[in-house]
Amino acid sequence: MKTVYGPVPSWRLGRSLGIDLISSEKVCSFDCIYCQLGEKYEKTVKRRKFVETLRIKEDLLETLDLAEDVEIITFSGMGEPTLASNLKEVISIVRGITDLPLAILTNSSLLHRREVQNTLKTIERVITKLDAPDEKLFQRINRPHPSISFSQTLKGIKKFRSGYNGELELQIMFTDENKEHARELAGLAAEIKPERVDINTPLRPSPIKPLNKSEIKEIKEIFEEKSLNTKTVYESNKIKVETVDHEETARRRPG
Ligand code: SF4
Repeated sequence: MKTVYGPVPSWRLGRSLGIDLISSEKVCSFDCIYCQLGEKYEKTVKRRKFVETLRIKEDLLETLDLAEDVEIITFSGMGEPTLASNLKEVISIVRGITDLPLAILTNSSLLHRREVQNTLKTIERVITKLDAPDEKLFQRINRPHPSISFSQTLKGIKKFRSGYNGELELQIMFTDENKEHARELAGLAAEIKPERVDINTPLRPSPIKPLNKSEIKEIKEIFEEKSLNTKTVYESNKIKVETVDHEETARRRPG
C-alpha cells in the first residue's frame, strides 16, 4: 500500500498531497462517532514507527513526479499522524525533496507532549481538532483512549498556540451531538485564537448524519459574533483534481 496519496481536493487546504504515516488499519487515540475510517481499529497513545521513513521517501518522489499542481503536503491518513514516532524524521526528508508548505491534521490529543509540540512547530499549518466543550461530551463524541482527558487536550492546544508562529486552524465537526454547544465552543475558540475555525459536518460517508446548510450557517454566525474567521464545509469551492491513484486516495482521511 502506498504511503503517499492524492492530490486530494481539500476544502481547507487546496490541492493537497497526503502522506499517511500509519498506512494500514486505523490507529488512533480517538474513536470518534463520525469517523469514516471504519470500525476496525487500534486505540493507543503509544508513539511508534508504523512505516519506514525510506519507504515514504520513495513513495513521495514517485508521486511528486506524476502529480500536477500540488499546493501543499499534508500529514493525515489512516489515523492520528502524531502517533508516528518518525514524524520529525519524515518532515526533514520532505524538506529535502520539495519547497512545498506542510500541513498536519491532528486530533490534538498528544499536543500536550513537548516532543510533539516541538515537531509540529516546524510545520506551516497545523489543523487541530476540538469537537466538545467539556469532558462529558468529549467522551461521548471522541471516545478517547482512557489516558486522555478533555482538560489536558484543551491545555495542549492552548500551550501549542502560545509558542507557534505558523497558521493554526481549529476544526470542529458539528453533528446533532454538539450543535447545541456552539456558543461554548465559540468561547473556547476565542480563547485559543486560531487563524481560522473550520466548521465541518460529516458530508463524506459516515455513521452519523450531517447537519444541513442552514444549521451550519447558524453555527457560523455564532462564531462570527466572537470575531472569529471561519470557513464552513458548505462554502468550499469544489476543486477538480486528478489523483495519481484513486483507490489509495479514497481510503484515507482527506484534508
Ligand atoms: S481523530 Fe480522526 S481518525 Fe481518529 S477516530 Fe477521530 S475521525 Fe477517526
